[in-house]
Amino acid sequence: MAERPFWNDIEGASAAEVRALEDRKLAGQIDYLFANSSFYQRKLGDAGLKPTDIRSVRDLRNVPFTRKSELRESLAEAPPLGHHGIAPICDVVQIQASSGTTGAPSYVGVTHRDLDSWCEMQARTMYAGGILPGDLVMHATSLSKGFVGGVPVFQSFQYMKVCDIPIGAEAGTERLLAVIRDLKPNVLYATPHFAVYLAERVPDVLGMTARELSVRKLSVGGEPGGGIPAVRAKMEELWDADAREILGGTDFGIAYWGECEDKSGMHFTGQGYIVAEIIDPVTEEVLEPEQGVEGELVYSAIDRQASALLRFRSGDRVLVTGTSCPCGRTSYKLRCVGRTDDMLIVKGINVFPSAVQDVVTRFGAEVTGLIKVVVDFDGHTTQDALKIKVECAQGLPVDRLPGLKRDLENSLRDSLVFRPEVTLVPAGTFAKPGQTKVSMIERVQPSGSRA
Ligand SMILES: [Zn+2]
Repeated sequence: MAERPFWNDIEGASAAEVRALEDRKLAGQIDYLFANSSFYQRKLGDAGLKPTDIRSVRDLRNVPFTRKSELRESLAEAPPLGHHGIAPICDVVQIQASSGTTGAPSYVGVTHRDLDSWCEMQARTMYAGGILPGDLVMHATSLSKGFVGGVPVFQSFQYMKVCDIPIGAEAGTERLLAVIRDLKPNVLYATPHFAVYLAERVPDVLGMTARELSVRKLSVGGEPGGGIPAVRAKMEELWDADAREILGGTDFGIAYWGECEDKSGMHFTGQGYIVAEIIDPVTEEVLEPEQGVEGELVYSAIDRQASALLRFRSGDRVLVTGTSCPCGRTSYKLRCVGRTDDMLIVKGINVFPSAVQDVVTRFGAEVTGLIKVVVDFDGHTTQDALKIKVECAQGLPVDRLPGLKRDLENSLRDSLVFRPEVTLVPAGTFAKPGQTKVSMIERVQPSGSRA
């Protein structure tokens, strides 16, 4: 049997076909929310909207945004799943938790049908990334804590008949590497920084290099890194493997953006389940997804029974990298450039920590690749030099330190057009990648402010 070009034919459908499907499902979802969701009955009612006002994706523009803070309040007031949980708890078969990078975890429920759609979207995403039935996957993201990178990923691999080895990041580096040596998986599923870290530990733990192991495909996500050119190149070189990136989030599924063999950005894979819009985060205007457009992703569920959300501000800041692709997928492609919350403005120049990391990682063996941007000012804007801590590689000669600091500062200034102040810190200063996401921001009390 010839290999299918995509997991699902909808990925190659025309824009008009996809839009017709979205309009039909959205209308049904709106009727369902008006009938069942006290959260949206109130929210849409307050905005003066009736079910007949929202019949198409175009009409979504009149719908107010839903923000994370509203979900937190709703969850606190009406446990376990909040006023927006909707489905009767007897229909909910699973509750997942978000990783809570910006506060307390939030909880998301799924029914049997919702779980099926999560698996379908994840299967499209994985298949785009070159992971096929018959592959053997080392599952090295966190399997505990209710994160979507754990049990739901396991379930989606079962759904697509890919063999998962659910060892998990919690097992620790030595255990994970020993199992890779013993079982010879051809795929590693991990966060990008953990994939790099694991490869770097192979010589100590196994007395060989990661290139000599069996992994030839890397599927990475959960944090910026896979889309940062220098980080990707490092990971591919270390493992002698092909790295592809994924993007998603617990509120709408597992991953619903996946990167094809063209490796030029991630295609949307949520057709029929989610509508994605890109907005200007300041003016909140909807932007057409044309090449070069940058904005924040906003999602609406259009075929969801439990925890269904409309126009949810994801906080993910993305750049559209293309609107057509040799692979035949018809959805546009994008890269995640960071979280809207992480963007800093240094003397009027927008700076994302992921861009800083890209420049630093190009210094190769002299650095570990881990950085912290020190935010010692209120909000996101500073007129001063931006302080950046960079971890040096183990064993770097002391007499190289002043030169490395100078070279890093020059490179950052030349590439990103802002004035940096680099502090070098020894290897091992920052928490090792593994079970938790790597934060590239260190917030400290503004030096001039009152305590
Ligand atoms: Zn493609």
